[in-house]
Amino acid sequence: MSLLQVRGLQVAYGGIRAVKGIDLDIAEGELVTLIGANGAGKSSTLRALSGLIKAQGRINYQGHELGEQPAFERARAGLVMVPEGRGVFAQLSVDDNLSMGTYARGGRGEGGEQADRERVFQLFPRLAERRRQAGGTLSGGEQQMLAIGRALMSRPRVLLLDEPSMGLAPLVVQTIFSVIRAINAEGVAVLLVEQNARAALEIAARAYVMDSGTITLSGEARELLHDPKVKAAYLGEA
Ligand code: ATP
Repeated sequence: MSLLQVRGLQVAYGGIRAVKGIDLDIAEGELVTLIGANGAGKSSTLRALSGLIKAQGRINYQGHELGEQPAFERARAGLVMVPEGRGVFAQLSVDDNLSMGTYARGGRGEGGEQADRERVFQLFPRLAERRRQAGGTLSGGEQQMLAIGRALMSRPRVLLLDEPSMGLAPLVVQTIFSVIRAINAEGVAVLLVEQNARAALEIAARAYVMDSGTITLSGEARELLHDPKVKAAYLGEA
């Protein structure tokens, strides 16, 4: 039984069908990527899973159907999203932004906030150097680190990451991706939405390819990296 099992998920914005009945599975501790072009429906899928938008179909998490469960309850249960655009609180310091993450933890594991914070600083030493600085003054890469750090403070079981590499320099992307791998190695399942298909396929175990609201391909990430269709359409290779 998957930790997260999605069946027939549909999202529509008025007459626009953004997600047309997709199936996804994520096992405990698995790193899965969802790749696809602009507008394929990847963000809509993540928003539906985290409860930020209405969707049809079935989402089963930890053996329970989520139904209409609101986003904050899903986050409390460990299904935690890092949105595209990051959502850092611009006026709050790095430290206070991280504290916000602990509120989403709910009843899961009391205390240990200091240890969690130290762990975030260990993963992202840059945040430790800037802990009293306002979130809004950080660089794009640092804001992405902070958004991931904040999500970690809520002790996720599944981390839903929406385009963490968006707009970042290659070196920063490397840092972010190696941290995603480290988080996953500690047992947190990850669903990574990316347009940077190569980087995502290199760290994921399995992958889904999305096109126009449907899943067109899925399998081992390593195999998809060598799939001629994936190479031509998503890796910029002939
Ligand atoms: P991107 O990488 O550009 O975010 P995506 O694969 O994440 O692309 P979505 O953002 O999920 O794709 O968008 C899927 C489709 O739904 C697109 O056609 C988009 O224009 C449409 N869409 C997304 N959000 C809305 C909205 N709030 N209202 C209307 N249409 C929307």
